[in-house]
Amino acid sequence: RQEQVQALERVRHWQWLTILLGALLLALLTSLAWRHGRTSRRLSRESLIDPLTGIANRAAIEAEAIRALERAPRKGGAMSLLMLDLDHFKAINDRHGHAAGDRVLRAAADAWHTVLRGRDPLGRIGGEEFVVVCADTTLEQALVVAERLREATAALLFDDVDPGLRVTVSIGVAQSQRSDDTHEDVLARADAALYRAKQRGRNRVEH
Ligand code: GH3
Ligand code: MG
Ligand code: MG
Repeated sequence: RQEQVQALERVRHWQWLTILLGALLLALLTSLAWRHGRTSRRLSRESLIDPLTGIANRAAIEAEAIRALERAPRKGGAMSLLMLDLDHFKAINDRHGHAAGDRVLRAAADAWHTVLRGRDPLGRIGGEEFVVVCADTTLEQALVVAERLREATAALLFDDVDPGLRVTVSIGVAQSQRSDDTHEDVLARADAALYRAKQRGRNRVEH
């Protein structure tokens, strides 16, 4: 009988050990899954952000444009796009160095973000080229927004780099026109308008 009790106690001992190991394994798996989820959330967030300026990158701002374009006919309105390109930016890099150029890019993005008050998404699509998506906005309204951005850029000061440094921006504006307009169509028209702004002397808004 005593042997039977001892055998039962051994079995119980092993049972507890198994339960303990199972619990440990479960805790380990839960922690791994949680870490994996956190990392993938961070990566997907980072894949939409331009690391230099902290604003939307090209993929993210294009997605915003597509969304705004899809919503436009349903809301019975229009969407507009602004394409911005800093003027003579290469000369800023050449004269003051690449780090100063980076500082100008960040300052411009910050200033525009403040002017836009987070309502219209802003993204960096290339070196010194940016796009603003104005959902549910007519060309006339978008031109007003563009003019405010242009003025905010010209008002920027960079006393730590060079008190005489002034930065200007040229802006092309386009509005969606037909229901089959793609975001690429509107972007191409904004780009053509930007080209005209450059041709006509820079530091100006064209449509
Ligand atoms: P325009 O008025 O016709 O637009 O002339 P621009 O000099 O601004 O245009 P251009 O395309 O000739 O030069 C753009 C410059 O932007 C060249 C490139 O070295 C610089 N650039 C691109 N990306 C970055 C960046 O991330 N940081 C810095 N500092 N410079 C950059
Ligand atoms: Mg450019
Ligand atoms: Mg430029």
